[in-house]
Amino acid sequence: MTTFRSKLPNHFDLPRRINRLGELAYNLWWTWQPEAVRVFRRLDYDLWESLGHNPIQLLREIGRPRLNQLADDKEYLALYDRVFASFDAYMSQTATWAERAHPELTNLPIAYFSMEYGLHETLPIYSGGLGVLAGDHLKEASDLGLPLVGVGLMYGQGFFTQRISEDGWQEAINNELDFADLPAIQVLADDGTRMTVDIEFPERNVTLGLWEIRVGRIPLYLLDSNIDSNSEFDKNLTARLYWADLDLRVMQEIVLGVGGVRMLRALGYNPSVWHMNEGHAAFLTIERARELVAAGHTFELALEKTRGQNIFTTHTPVAAGNDEFPLWLIDKYFSALWPQLNISREQFFDIARHHVPSGETFSMGVLALRNAAGRNGVSELHGRVARSMWHFLWPDHDEDEVPISYVTNGVHTANWMASRLRILFGLHFGMDWMDRLDDPDLWTKLNQIPDAALWEVHLHLKRKLAFYMRERVRDRWKAGGYHPVQVVSSGVMINPYALTIGFARRFATYKRAGLVLSDVDLLLNIINHPNMPVQIIFAGKAHPSDEAGKQLIQQVYRQVKRAETSGRLVFLEDYDMNLSRYLVQGVDVWMNTPRRPMEASGTSGMKAALNGALNFSVLDGWWREAFNGKNGWSIGEDKVMDAQEAQDHEDAQSLYATLENEIIPLYYDHDPKELPHEWIARMKDSMQTVIPQFSTRRMVKEYVERFYVPALQ
Ligand SMILES: *Cc1c(COP(=O)(O)O)cnc(C)c1O
Repeated sequence: MTTFRSKLPNHFDLPRRINRLGELAYNLWWTWQPEAVRVFRRLDYDLWESLGHNPIQLLREIGRPRLNQLADDKEYLALYDRVFASFDAYMSQTATWAERAHPELTNLPIAYFSMEYGLHETLPIYSGGLGVLAGDHLKEASDLGLPLVGVGLMYGQGFFTQRISEDGWQEAINNELDFADLPAIQVLADDGTRMTVDIEFPERNVTLGLWEIRVGRIPLYLLDSNIDSNSEFDKNLTARLYWADLDLRVMQEIVLGVGGVRMLRALGYNPSVWHMNEGHAAFLTIERARELVAAGHTFELALEKTRGQNIFTTHTPVAAGNDEFPLWLIDKYFSALWPQLNISREQFFDIARHHVPSGETFSMGVLALRNAAGRNGVSELHGRVARSMWHFLWPDHDEDEVPISYVTNGVHTANWMASRLRILFGLHFGMDWMDRLDDPDLWTKLNQIPDAALWEVHLHLKRKLAFYMRERVRDRWKAGGYHPVQVVSSGVMINPYALTIGFARRFATYKRAGLVLSDVDLLLNIINHPNMPVQIIFAGKAHPSDEAGKQLIQQVYRQVKRAETSGRLVFLEDYDMNLSRYLVQGVDVWMNTPRRPMEASGTSGMKAALNGALNFSVLDGWWREAFNGKNGWSIGEDKVMDAQEAQDHEDAQSLYATLENEIIPLYYDHDPKELPHEWIARMKDSMQTVIPQFSTRRMVKEYVERFYVPALQ
């Protein structure tokens, strides 16, 4: 059973009868339990919304009279008691999947390192898919009862808030987070002072404070350089995600890799498996070896003895996407560390030396791949791309024998599925269906659900999305300074009964957000069809230093705000996990147009599919594995062309043709009761094929069985 290191803060003034609300606010378990969400939301619906679903702030601000009232409200207390009975049962559960299937893992912690974690919208320590995947990994590890511990960084400002100007330009707002409002608890040493770890940087030590976040049964520990004894420069190390400045970036990765190992030691952990989620964490391999050198081993032997327990998941399908640092920079920041390894400077560089056209670099990818026994990409195609990309590290192997395999990503079903759907499935499959969600047999029962029942839930979710967009705009309009054209562009004219397509993701150029706009006149013709209108909702942030990404947003926005679109093209500001939830639950079609094979996996389409949306995507990443010809649609074919422009042109042709000839007519083919039976049949096929396979349930079990358990030997 889990023991958390931190002591629960007790700064709420709560009536005795409901005083455990404070404890629940500090365990993110509530975020994937609809009833637990209700236990907070019922306190004050408007305040809950205006605080952005933050239970800690809510409990602090709500005031004693309302709490006293609820402490006397029979109906509320029944809900409260149900939620805590279920919370207690969860936290003390024995005979979890991990304990039953893999008792050999008991008391052998698995350390999971990631630069970002997407756990909830109130905790902006993620930028996109990599973080959301890591967050879902922790939630699933908790559900399965794995002895896993997460390691990451606590960002003082978090990822930025996005505003779009009237002209379509992205503005980034960086706010200082108040950690007292967040479900992060300072870890204290036994003597009551702050627990810290130190890293030797050139001519100084940097001290890092520790935070704990409780994710169900899983503790996540985060490092924070904003400590009084550090210089102003060093305090900034963990201020933001992914500094573009190389000095800050390499230091941040040292904090994660080296600091992360030291943090686990300070907390008393001796992990038996070390999982690096992307190359940012690869310095952990050096720190683990350093520990053994300090104990008297040679560096060579130390690497050899630690390698078997290291696992590396790569997410990057292009060489340029991996972090590579100039050797002089590594020299600068490791000058105090590498001499402790009893090797020469050149030997140190050799562990990650990468020959590139401009000379030599220190490659985080090379470092991780050389020093891990388990290596994987995140989809079948991405595994293949990774084997080709890193073939040079195994020159004696044929390309298809390069020892990098794949585990296709998944999503945490409970976190992403609308509660209305969960209830519908509960009625038909039995209330314990989530325990069997990766069993394909369970999903054959979908055919027993009447079309009308599924469609009713779907329409409810579409209306919810439409109302949500309207309420967001209302707040912005009321606040002033919002141009009317921005109101129109934010979805106020959306018709919840018209075919609605979602396109939301990071605005990186390879995602080709402009593809659907490549023939604007044709698109306007399609979306303005008098009887069969189509709406497209765009959302997404560009990295603040990615000028091309920001220009792409502007290009989309300039089309969105044209009168000729009739308000049917929409751009929603500030894509985050909350907006993502509304979108994946409320659209009919989820569109994705990456340039192959750049998507690696992609996960938002899985979230959409488990809510009944149909995917309409390039055969890249996960969709290439899931598409069966009738559970959605493909854009283009299963091939890569050499000429990018020709590929873009062909994909756009395919997109428009499929949209016009297949998707739109199918959606509007209703029976007299307005039920599109053929469409609903596809929804069922999609749910049946996607939910069991592309869930973190399947994914984490695969990591356990193919990587974690073998690493014990
Ligand atoms: C799921 C998710 C992503 C990742 O989506 P992709 O399909 O991998 O692009 C990014 N951002 C948010 C907020 C998400 O919820």
